[in-house]
Amino acid sequence: MSVAFITGASRGIGRAIALELARAGFDVAGNSRRFDPQAPNTGLAEVQQRVQELGRRFLPVPGDVADLDNHATMLQAVLDAFGGLDLFVSNAGVAPEQRLDLLVATPESYDRVLGVNARGPFFLAQKVAQQLVNQVEAGNSPAGKMVFVTSISAEVSSPSRAEYCVSKAALSQTARLFAQRLAGHGIGVYEIRPGIIKTDMTAPVREQYDRLIAEGLVPQKRWGTPEDVARAVVAIARGDFDYATGAVIEVSGGMNLRRL
Ligand code: NAP
Repeated sequence: MSVAFITGASRGIGRAIALELARAGFDVAGNSRRFDPQAPNTGLAEVQQRVQELGRRFLPVPGDVADLDNHATMLQAVLDAFGGLDLFVSNAGVAPEQRLDLLVATPESYDRVLGVNARGPFFLAQKVAQQLVNQVEAGNSPAGKMVFVTSISAEVSSPSRAEYCVSKAALSQTARLFAQRLAGHGIGVYEIRPGIIKTDMTAPVREQYDRLIAEGLVPQKRWGTPEDVARAVVAIARGDFDYATGAVIEVSGGMNLRRL
């Protein structure tokens, strides 16, 4: 039985990853800041219901990824429930609460965004990596895998949300570092870079992006869906990229193309 642990699994891209992995046969541990079993139609409780309808087990793992004190408890809950871990997907992330120009961006927003998008994921991945190495040394096969959901903002600059771009560049380097460090253990590490995906995160700028997409910003001329991203994770999970550790897979409708 295969087990996936996904951060930020209550909505959007993380939710789609949880459901697509369940469809592919994974039991799922899903994290977000909250789990309210009294509200079965929202958040992790809704995802739990959907995963169970697909015939797989689901463990809610509430906790703020920015708070390093939560990490050991979160990981231990996954191990207690499932006995091991095959795939870790670092997906939780936030946008700045307010888009401010680079020249007036605040330290408070910088610390918040870096805390959730880069610092927390770095140290949670460190704990998970230790566990995956332990599993390999105990003879478990195949070795586990890690996926980091970064963004085209790891490379594309948007001066109205600079701290987000910095956080995603940091997370991209984090993926590369773990890929190198873990390759000798047979543990594959991958980066997925979504482009413009229709979720709560992009809801405040929907009309602006509708217009930009209509004007040709995205060569494939549509919004990405959470499922577009989730299918790339499933391909990694089932081993299609087993000789490609460190790969950066952009899911952006061609925004990576330099055009004339
Ligand atoms: P979303 O719809 O806003 O969902 C974010 C998820 O992260 C939710 O499950 C949220 O759950 C969780 N989360 C937020 N802060 C958290 C924290 N401190 N600890 C634990 N969980 C937390 O965003 P999304 O669009 O699906 O984005 C998912 C990932 O893709 C993010 O890393 C984002 O940067 C990246 N991405 C998105 C786009 C896009 O266009 N949407 C493009 C490129 C990259 P709770 O609120 O319940 O805690």
